[in-house]
Amino acid sequence: MPKKVTQSEKLSNVRYDVRGPVLEQAEKMEDAGHRILRLNIGNPAPFGFEAPDAVLVDMIKNLPYAQGYSDSRGIFSARTAVVQYYQTKGVRNLDVDDVFLGNGVSEMITLTLQALCDPGDEILVPSPDYPLWTGATTLSGGTAVHYNCVEEDGWNPDLEDIRSKVTDRTRGIVVINPNNPTGAVYSRETLQGIVDIAKEHELVLFSDEIYEKITYDDAEMINLATLTGEDVLCLTFSGLSKAYRVAGYRAGWVAITGPSWKAESYLEGIKLLANMRMCANVPAQHAIQTALGGYQSINDLILPGGRLKAQRDLAYERLNQIDGVTCEPAVGALYLFPKLDVEKFNITDDERFALDLLKEQKILVSHGSAFNFDTPDHFRLVFLPSVEQLEPALDRIEEFLGGYKQVQ
Ligand code: PLP
Repeated sequence: MPKKVTQSEKLSNVRYDVRGPVLEQAEKMEDAGHRILRLNIGNPAPFGFEAPDAVLVDMIKNLPYAQGYSDSRGIFSARTAVVQYYQTKGVRNLDVDDVFLGNGVSEMITLTLQALCDPGDEILVPSPDYPLWTGATTLSGGTAVHYNCVEEDGWNPDLEDIRSKVTDRTRGIVVINPNNPTGAVYSRETLQGIVDIAKEHELVLFSDEIYEKITYDDAEMINLATLTGEDVLCLTFSGLSKAYRVAGYRAGWVAITGPSWKAESYLEGIKLLANMRMCANVPAQHAIQTALGGYQSINDLILPGGRLKAQRDLAYERLNQIDGVTCEPAVGALYLFPKLDVEKFNITDDERFALDLLKEQKILVSHGSAFNFDTPDHFRLVFLPSVEQLEPALDRIEEFLGGYKQVQ
């Protein structure tokens, strides 16, 4: 018998279902010549969201000078731009050496969790979550313990639930604000409540703010690091993928604020891992200063009359008009997380629902349990397509649900 090449046992509990079997089925259908409308990932470029010209020009101009490795934390001018950006938001205590640039937020999530977690350490992660947080925690040897975000409360985190899940093994709390997949933007009270818990139990806060510039209806987005001050170690994650529409460039960062004097060992660990991967993609680092400092074209997309806002409004209204579907409004980000009436549709398996929708209507959505949400009654819709594309897609979802009864 030939010896099989097997994957590491480290991966046995790591799941990333937003890119799982439903996507595989979609790819099979595409290979067979079907056209699939992909409403499954927040990738702005394929839907005609172009990067600002200045960002492209800066990267192109710097290409000849971006051939070598950079400082493992990233080029100084870009890290300075990140520091100055947070200063304008009211974060005063960020040092340029505490900014690490990465190949997207994704890399920095994995890296900072790897540097922190020992087997058995617990990280409090929202449910529903952006599943990389759970996957990366598991891969790092830690345990993701999920806290509830409450749909009826605008998907705000349940502070009591968070508090009740803190144990002597808890090391940190993940906050995703604005939220993927729910579109929630958290209030000052909620954020302050999380900071208070972190302070009381000396936990690290991981604040994923990749959608911070994508908010609607005058929602106030508060950077968590403005509330943590010198009391709580706060890792703020953001980057260019969404607001500047260059997800493929892989430009992101983590900015670390708070009591670094008691986190020297952790910061050294992050530095070690940053060194081990040499540096982040250097051409994309050159885009950061221009992006953060220049004209913020994202504002034209989210304000009344803006393309993203129009798409959000349409998707929200149309979903709520479908019999058996209810949906909280998205106040930020690019997603809606509607609820399905499981009795009406006889749904016990939300992945099956996504597969059925795909096969019948050639529309690809992500099922709720892919976001570590434990009831099978939600799915996530990406509202990146233009109104002209979204309208017929929502017609098709409505038509599908009009006759849907899940076969057990
Ligand atoms: N964090 C959240 C909440 C996201 O939704 C995403 C991408 O969809 C990422 C991080 C990944 O961002 P990046 O492209 O910077 O790796």
